[in-house]
Amino acid sequence: MSRKEGMIYCNRCGRVICAEERQDMTSFLAVRKNWGYFSNQKDGMCYSADLCENCCDALAGEFVIAPTVEENTELV
Ligand SMILES: [Zn+2]
Repeated sequence: MSRKEGMIYCNRCGRVICAEERQDMTSFLAVRKNWGYFSNQKDGMCYSADLCENCCDALAGEFVIAPTVEENTELV
């Protein structure tokens, strides 16, 4: 559980990312996955996690195939 008492924590490093009320103004990776019928052992389970930007970089650095990076021209 990376969200408690109104704060969002990074699942990987444990540091505070931001207050939940500021999540729309903060850059971090929020992952939510409802595992369905075609998963191996997680049918009906929902996984969610949050990662800070540093941990996203560290995790992506472990990828055998680098993530696709494109310039986003529609910054909000
Ligand atoms: Zn982190």
